[in-house]
Parts: sequence; structure tokens; C-alpha cells
Amino acid sequence: MATSTRTTQRTTQEWQAADAAHFLHPFTDHQGLAKKGARIIERADNIYLWDSEGHKILDAMSGLWCVNVGYGQEALVQAATKQLRQLPFYNAFFQTATTPAIELAELLAEVSPPGFEHVFFAGSGSEGNDTVVRMVRRYWDILGQPNRQVIISRNNAYHGSTMAGASLGGMSGMHAQGGLPIPGIQHIEQPYWWDHGRTQGLTRSEFGLVAARWLEERILAIGAENVAAFIGEPVQGAGGVIIPPATYWPEIQRICDKYGVLVVADEVICGFGRTGAWWGSQTMGFRPDLMTFAKGVTSGYVPLGGVMVGERIARALVDQGGEFNHGYTYSGHPVACAVALANIGLIRELGLVERVKNDTGPYLAQRFAELAEHPLVGDAETCGLMGALLLVKNRATGAAFDEAVGIGMVCRGHCFGNGLIMRAVGDRMIIAPPLVITRAQIDEMMVLIRRCLDLTLADAHAHGWLK
Ligand SMILES: *Cc1c(COP(=O)(O)O)cnc(C)c1O
Repeated sequence: MATSTRTTQRTTQEWQAADAAHFLHPFTDHQGLAKKGARIIERADNIYLWDSEGHKILDAMSGLWCVNVGYGQEALVQAATKQLRQLPFYNAFFQTATTPAIELAELLAEVSPPGFEHVFFAGSGSEGNDTVVRMVRRYWDILGQPNRQVIISRNNAYHGSTMAGASLGGMSGMHAQGGLPIPGIQHIEQPYWWDHGRTQGLTRSEFGLVAARWLEERILAIGAENVAAFIGEPVQGAGGVIIPPATYWPEIQRICDKYGVLVVADEVICGFGRTGAWWGSQTMGFRPDLMTFAKGVTSGYVPLGGVMVGERIARALVDQGGEFNHGYTYSGHPVACAVALANIGLIRELGLVERVKNDTGPYLAQRFAELAEHPLVGDAETCGLMGALLLVKNRATGAAFDEAVGIGMVCRGHCFGNGLIMRAVGDRMIIAPPLVITRAQIDEMMVLIRRCLDLTLADAHAHGWLK
């Protein structure tokens, strides 16, 4: 078959058939998808996608939480092309380095909080979290406390899909496949006020302290001398944009300091401006020892991940550690690093972090507060440019829809049908639009969201789901 015809001259049905025949998609019921046919996305610009049928779609999820600078940014394309021509690959294993990797390490230290002077590169967020597990355990070995092995995480956390990433994560469906979690990882309950605080009659700020103290209880149960680290997303993303009360993270910090436990922030979504600061830990008011990053570091144009390493750990590794027997072929990949340099440069040039903090973030919050009046919406929350709408059967009591209805999937179906990508996590409808979104585009998004909520409400009336 002539390769020149391959990518251009097929119908949507032909693409779908080839897709179903050969491509096993991530996190997908393959048989179910084969029956329906995948939606084929062909091109994108700014915050919009176009599918193979020519439909224009507003991408309120930034791809998969990653396209922070939006699609079609020529500076990133040029950086990749130039680097591909000059040096498409060289490794950093054998006492060598490439200039983009060095420059990116330097720039990452510059945009990180004080005390982060070193970075370990990986190819993705999952790999970054694998590195975290190796590194925190290695750290305690070097310090002569090899019993400090246990890493504490939270239910409904998402930390990736490798063996270590999925183990750190708190998704029961993932643990159920493949014999997870791996040993030495424990989970406490997530700081989700709606489920665990509201029903107990606690205010959000009271609940933040209660939820943080679940960590202290667990540390005492395990014995602090056995606990290596606590890991959390500053704001849980894939779990449904769960925004913890403002009291939560400072109390977590206090507890970890008290017992000498390392704090790891998984910044894969929150990093690079999403919350209105360079890092979500800055927005949430804590000082991690390690920060995992990926997604927004390259705006998803090419894969890259890694871990920012705080001085406490860096000093041990560098000064006392000898060889750290860990790394990836693509640690510091020159093309990925060149794209990241251009991406961070563009975030700065466009002032996107400040814009989210002072302009588009507060504006989204205001528009979401209006949506909270909709009959289907029990709770509407935002943090920077992430937001969640909780769909409920009864606003007065907060009663949930019957699970069999799958109200989130019904709403998501209407979004698909109306040119909007919004994701459903259970009954939470979530968004995380590109950071380049304007106020006018937020208005445009709100019209679409409201239309989809209205259509979902009409379904609920028609099918008697509100009874
Ligand atoms: C996406 C994500 C990961 C995993 O990143 P991959 O690049 O998919 O491996 C890890 N942590 C968080 C918080 C994420 O959102």
C-alpha cells in the first residue's frame, strides 16, 4: 500500500474499522468501543479540535490535562524541528549530556520554589512516580534508616498506570487487575468534603483538619520509623477535580514535619500554571521534598516527565549516595527538552500563570458559581482553570442519582453531541481548559455546558430519574 494515501484518503468508517482491528486503547472496554467506533480527531488549533467528520469541538480538557499553551503553537513546532535536525537523540547514562537537557534542568530550577535545584528526567508522569518510589526508599537507605519503606497515599488518587504508579494511586478498579498494590504502599481516605465531611456535619475547614489527621493516625499505626513518605496531588485531577479545603495541606505539612516523613507533591496536572501558580503546592500552601511533573511541561506536544528533587534529598543522593541504579533511555531526551524549553518560554511570554491567577481563574470561578443555580448541580467548584460540577437528583438534600442511571455519562454524551469535551468522573463533570482560553471563550464554553446540563435535565424528567 502506498504510504502517501494512508493518512488522507479513508472515510471515518474505514478509520474506525482499522482502529478496532489493531489498536488497543488505554483504559477502554475494547469490545464496547469496537461496536461504537472511535471518534477520529484530525486536527486542532488554539482550544478547538476537528474530527474526521469536520465537527468543531471546544476542548475543555486540554487533551488530557496537558495542552496548557493550546494547540498550534509554532514556537514548539520549531523547537522540535530544529532539535530533530541537530541531534534527535543522545543518552545521559555514560557521563554525557545534551544541551537542551542541561538548559531545561536549569530553567526548571528557576521556575520551582526555592530549594529545588535538581531534576531527574523521565518519559511520563507514571515513570516519574516510579522514580519517586525508588528515590525516597534510596534516600532513607543512605541515611541509615532502611526501615522507612512505607509510602502513604490516598483513596481515589491518580498517580499513573505503571506498577508503581497504579499502586500509589487509589483506584480500586486498577488495583483489582494485575496484583496491585505492590508491597509497602498504603492508602488513607481522600479529602473529599462532599462524601466524608458534609454528611458528618463538618464545615469545609473543619473537615480539612480531620482529613489531614487521618494521616497522623496512619503514621502512628505503622510507626513513624517505618514511614518513608506521603504522596498527594495538590488537587486530585482524574479522581474528579477534588479540591481539598484550604486547611488540609498545611496540616499535612505539619504532621509530616513532626514525624520526619517526606512530602511528595504529584504536580503532573497542577504544575505549569493550572492552579494560578507555577506549582499546585504553592497554591495549596505546602513545601514538598519532591515534585513529580509531566503533562504541562511540554503542553503534551511530546512526552516528557520527571521529578524535581529538593535539597534534602539531592544532598543525600549527590554527596553520600554513590551510584543510583535507576534511569530511563529517554531521561533528558533532547527533543522533549527542547520543546519544554520553548513551552515554558511561551508560558512566561504570554504571562499565563498570572493570567490564570488574576483574570481567567477568577472569571471561571464566577461563571461556575452561576451554574451552581442549575437544578442538576449540587456543587460547583474551581481552582485556577480546573473545575467540577457535581450532578445531583435533589439540590435541597444533596441526594445522588441512582447509580444505574449513569448521569455523568448521559451528560458527557450530550457534550460529545454538542461540540464540547467535558469529562465525567462518576457524577462529577470536570473541565481543565487550555490556559490560553480567553474570557470570551469561557463564555462560549459556559453556553455549551448549560445546554448540555439542560439536555441532561430533560432526559432526567423524561425517564423519571428524578423520582
Ligand atoms: C496523568 C497523571 C499521571 C500519569 O502520567 P502519564 O504521563 O500518563 O504516565 C500521574 N499523576 C497524575 C496526577 C496525573 O494526572
